[in-house]
Amino acid sequence: MANPYDAIIIGSGAGGGTLALHLARAGKRILILERGPFLPQEKLNWDTSAVFLENRYHTTETWHDQDDKPLHPQQAYYVGGQTKVYGAALFRMRAEDFGVIQHQGGISPAWPITYADMEPYYTRAEELFHVHGDLGTAPSVPGGFASSYDPTEPFHSKPYPYPAFSNEPRMAAIEADIRKLGINTFPIPLGLKLNEANPAASKCVRCDTCDGYPCLVHAKSDADINCIREIMNLPNVTLLTNSRVLRLLTNAAGTAITAVEVQHTDSSAPTTYEAHIVALCAGAVNSSVVLLQSANDKHPTGLANGSDQVGRNFMYHQADALLALSTIDNHDSYTKTWGTNDFYFRDTDPSYPFPLGQVQPVGSFHHEMMKGDAPPLTPGFILEGMKRHAVPWWLTTEDLPDPNNRVTLRNATPSSLAATQPGPAGPHPDSGVSPSNQSAAVTLAQPGHIKLSYTPNNTKSFERLKDRWVGILKQAGHADTSIPFHAYFKKRIPLEGVGHQNGTLRFGHDPATSVLDIHCKAHQLDNLYVVDASFFASASAVNPSLTIIANAIRVADHLLAEVLT
Ligand SMILES: Cc1cc2nc3c(=O)[nH]c(=O)nc-3n(C[C@H](O)[C@H](O)[C@H](O)COP(=O)(O)OP(=O)(O)OC[C@H]3O[C@@H](n4cnc5c(N)ncnc54)[C@H](O)[C@@H]3O)c2cc1C
Ligand code: SF4
Repeated sequence: MANPYDAIIIGSGAGGGTLALHLARAGKRILILERGPFLPQEKLNWDTSAVFLENRYHTTETWHDQDDKPLHPQQAYYVGGQTKVYGAALFRMRAEDFGVIQHQGGISPAWPITYADMEPYYTRAEELFHVHGDLGTAPSVPGGFASSYDPTEPFHSKPYPYPAFSNEPRMAAIEADIRKLGINTFPIPLGLKLNEANPAASKCVRCDTCDGYPCLVHAKSDADINCIREIMNLPNVTLLTNSRVLRLLTNAAGTAITAVEVQHTDSSAPTTYEAHIVALCAGAVNSSVVLLQSANDKHPTGLANGSDQVGRNFMYHQADALLALSTIDNHDSYTKTWGTNDFYFRDTDPSYPFPLGQVQPVGSFHHEMMKGDAPPLTPGFILEGMKRHAVPWWLTTEDLPDPNNRVTLRNATPSSLAATQPGPAGPHPDSGVSPSNQSAAVTLAQPGHIKLSYTPNNTKSFERLKDRWVGILKQAGHADTSIPFHAYFKKRIPLEGVGHQNGTLRFGHDPATSVLDIHCKAHQLDNLYVVDASFFASASAVNPSLTIIANAIRVADHLLAEVLT
């Protein structure tokens, strides 16, 4: 029987949503399997206590760290994945990030493709996700435009599709004072649908609850709104929500996926689906989990794991939020408008010849965010008072791939499946087809408990970055004191804060050291692709989504030209 689908796409986040859009618009018959429902559009989307204290939009599943301590990951399992709650700061990696970079903590390895290879896809990704930005007035460079604001910005073949956000008064004042110290600042590229020239036509109302929150008015460019809802009613698209993929089944030789085994939350027995190709886009942790759970006699340590690299090299950035407190009252409710990359490749101290990282504002900030870790019974008005004098900054340093930082399955006992919630579509009529795993399975078809082992690295540069930024803020008169945010607010930065997870199924030319080839096809399987943050060979120090989106467009082009012809 011919496959009912050209492609099964597992997960609908930054990678899966983008891939689905491109294959669907090309007329391919696709089945999207998403473990979560649509995120409810409700007033609580913008309620800080509900979002940050009650974890309303985070999974309740428990992972474990390397010491077997329980971990409550801040994972949003919804159509659109983590992009439903992200900050939409949509950066290109720097051109140098694609090469080898020597850090204090070790080597950041080269990618098997260059910035020039990715540039056209970055341009298309910025168009798809409505990115607002500004390159300024720099003279053109070969291949396009440079930035007069940020010397680290790589060339763009086209300017940003939408104008940069303006500053609120307080952020404008800080930026002006910082610039007087000779620091280059640049407008942060943002995927929020704001129309400042014509506010009546603006979807974004520039609220103070953006990064970390779902957007109540659907004005954030996310993979749900910008991708899935654009295609979900096409006749060639089937979307099954509340449908968690447990494992992938192979042929007897173990060379191709024959079926995808799925647990729908409204049925007790798993169902299987078939397609010509399978694209795993479940996020860097869960894509590894699916491969590990799919072990069979031809792939005894997990599917596509001949190189023993599946799940290894997990990265999620050294990232910290820092509250700069000053005597100046801050009544603005601002978003992330400007940042600096002046420490991206270097320190100001020539005796420390290593990259430090990036600085950007946290953006929207509320005193409830500090409540979780503030001393018990700290009155709300004290936190509110602190908030009024605080500007929070988000600092990121690259963490380096370490094979011991890895995702493994603690055991094969079931973890709890999400509560049953109705999806927009029922089970597909073809779901009666039940192909068996022709290669003998060696694990239970149950979700295993996830163990995430991580030892931070490259931390000296991160500490320096924090020192540099506090020094600059003080010099500019904008920080009488500063507090690492997570001393007060534990929910974002420790291992629970896996928002920037990447690198667990890295791509490369050599099957002995990588899981995926340069088209993100598993080296060991003919029809398995991984199209999410897993493919990163190194993490860079910029936010990952634009690179995930651009790569998904790149893979879609390849599939349409070479595979699904
Ligand atoms: C609070 C927060 C703020 C962030 N801010 C930014 C930012 O400003 N800029 C930026 O670039 N990035 C930001 N990020 C990171 C960004 O959201 C992620 O890098 C990006 O969404 C990852 O894309 P992905 O496709 O790899 O995975 P995801 O977007 O996580 O998508 C994976 C999808 O797969 C589904 N899934 C998982 N397992 C299964 C399974 N077994 N079966 C079926 N479906 C499954 C999930 O439900 C999800 O929908 C932020 C993240 C968070 C949490
Ligand atoms: S700032 Fe704009 S895009 Fe962000 S949540 Fe508010 S309205 Fe939505």
